[in-house]
Amino acid sequence: LKRIVIKVGTSTLMYPTGAINLQRIEKLAFVLTDLKNQGKEVILVSSGAIGVGCHRLKLTERPTTIPQQQAVAAVGQSELMSLYSNFFNNYSQVVGQVLLTRDVIEFPESRTNVTNTFNQLLAMDIIPIVNENDTVAVDELEHQTKFGDNDSLSALVTELTQADLLIMLSDIDGFYDKNPTVHQDACLFSEINEITADLLSLAGGNGSKFGTGGMITKLNAAEHVLNQDSQMILANGAEPTIIFEIMHGENIGTHFLKK
Ligand code: ADP
Repeated sequence: LKRIVIKVGTSTLMYPTGAINLQRIEKLAFVLTDLKNQGKEVILVSSGAIGVGCHRLKLTERPTTIPQQQAVAAVGQSELMSLYSNFFNNYSQVVGQVLLTRDVIEFPESRTNVTNTFNQLLAMDIIPIVNENDTVAVDELEHQTKFGDNDSLSALVTELTQADLLIMLSDIDGFYDKNPTVHQDACLFSEINEITADLLSLAGGNGSKFGTGGMITKLNAAEHVLNQDSQMILANGAEPTIIFEIMHGENIGTHFLKK
């Protein structure tokens, strides 16, 4: 496994109070740089633009209209990149911002340009940090209040870069047979080989306050990744060093891979 995409959700980057979780961002910078220094090619897909924008603008609630969200995201995205850039800089790691719209996949020329950019960044030892271009695209924004939050974008990035593994970090240890925040007897799936209708029916329920709720988008992302003959691991991002354990082949979270 050489080329790895890591996706972090808003719930990993922000405290439930709306403050920025600097420890997490710091540790992510450390872990991802170290992974790269071990010879891996690392791509980070990061949510959090709206959350960080709300924090910067001292908004107590997430705005409701799409233009408001886009404006807040414009503020938050540059703040977020500034944070990442500073933390990665502590480890002498250069990062590059890649803003995508999901329709790149439909236009061969755009698709080639995106792929070339990723390959060039990785060849230059740079860690790309990817988000959706919120000014142009409203898909993720529209979805974000209910579901989404870059899950599908991270699967798309896995496809575009032909990455070997997508590590999706969330606020939960993996995918369970029912929502574990509601049901104490929920059981963790450690391996899933196929996304079936039965599995999708187990993915309901509410998500975290700043995350976007439910596992449907994560299962859809897993399906996309499996269709690319790649793999996905859904794990808890509370302690980013979990990525080291995953890369050591330890049995962590839910591993989606074809049989
Ligand atoms: P993120 O912001 O990290 O993308 P989300 O909040 O969107 O995460 O989704 C994670 C949440 O999904 C969990 O905290 C949990 O409350 C909820 N959930 C619902 N059904 C399940 C399930 N079957 N297994 C695990 N989590 C579930």
